[in-house]
Amino acid sequence: MNCLFQNANIIANERIADIGIVDGKIHFPLKENAIHWDQIVDLKGKIVFKGFADIHTHLDKAMVTDYVKNESGTLQEAIDIMGKYKANMSDEEIYSRAKKVIEMCYRNGTRYLRTHVDVDNNIQSRSIKVLSTLKNEYQDKLYLDLIAFPQEGILQNNENYLALEQALKDGASIIGGIPANEANPKKHIEMIFDLAKKYDVDIDMHIDENDNPDSLTILELIKQTIANNYQGRVLAGHLCSLGSSKLEVIQEVLERIKEAQIKIISLPSTNLYLEGRNDIGIIRRGIAPIKMMYQEYRIDVAIASDNIRDPFNPFGNGNPLQTALITAHACHMGGVQDLEDLFDMISSIPMKMMGFQPTYNEGEKAQVVVLDANTKDEAIISQASVLYAI
Ligand SMILES: [Zn+2]
Repeated sequence: MNCLFQNANIIANERIADIGIVDGKIHFPLKENAIHWDQIVDLKGKIVFKGFADIHTHLDKAMVTDYVKNESGTLQEAIDIMGKYKANMSDEEIYSRAKKVIEMCYRNGTRYLRTHVDVDNNIQSRSIKVLSTLKNEYQDKLYLDLIAFPQEGILQNNENYLALEQALKDGASIIGGIPANEANPKKHIEMIFDLAKKYDVDIDMHIDENDNPDSLTILELIKQTIANNYQGRVLAGHLCSLGSSKLEVIQEVLERIKEAQIKIISLPSTNLYLEGRNDIGIIRRGIAPIKMMYQEYRIDVAIASDNIRDPFNPFGNGNPLQTALITAHACHMGGVQDLEDLFDMISSIPMKMMGFQPTYNEGEKAQVVVLDANTKDEAIISQASVLYAI
């Protein structure tokens, strides 16, 4: 079926134009073209793009709140109860929960999805294998990346480290890490770099997910990124502790992040829920200073869902526009430029981090999402729905 969208706001190409889909491929029609269109829709300037990229999720844990409850609401209880529950999860259960979330994400217009997947001596690569099956099943609808994630640490238990290596053979294409939770963060980062180099994979770590301004394992990550010549191949998620740091410390860290070309992923919904738990009176938000990072330092910043309805965060519906709205509130990003930047942080920026090009080219495979909004800021404010998806 050949379909023509007239007056589309093709945001990645920065123009309003007609865009056609001919035999499943993108076609920019010229006036003299005599193509038979089965359907012609005048979009009157509505947004057309390749879809959202939700670059940091945990599909193996998502929707588990029916089975495990976090009574204190703290990160520590979340890790503890999930750690106990994890070993008993059946493959069927992981499959059905993850599938539900993938469907949610797809309906909301997400076409690029990346998930951390817990790997340790109990669960081994089971969740990785289940998610690899889903990756194949959904390959025509969305792209799914798997990160082998050592949530339980690797220093206390060498079997966890061996399981992490095995996961890279069983379908994970990126390696994760969580150095601030270990007694020796430097050693943790070294061991992750060893595996990353051995298998030639990129690194995507959970960094400083706490309120302690002295927790700056990011500095060690920067050092080792440069020492290992891994500039441009390292992503750092969270950086919550920077939300509690003094301005001069933040400025110093941001300079060095830029030098090491580390890309940042902020997870505001989960951070707002988990951080500041011991604060009374002034309750810190626990979110990295993303406005400064992006607008002043021009560091690549993406925002993402993180946990969806699990002990780490009971909320979330796999809608990047909701993540953007939460971030707009939490980070005081309500101006038009702020909202445009937030839209890019859920679409073109994480897409590029995952190795994809947001602009449309003549003849490429058609992947079109139309939003019920004319501008990026309107899309966030109105929480625009998906009008058409091809
Ligand atoms: Zn996470």
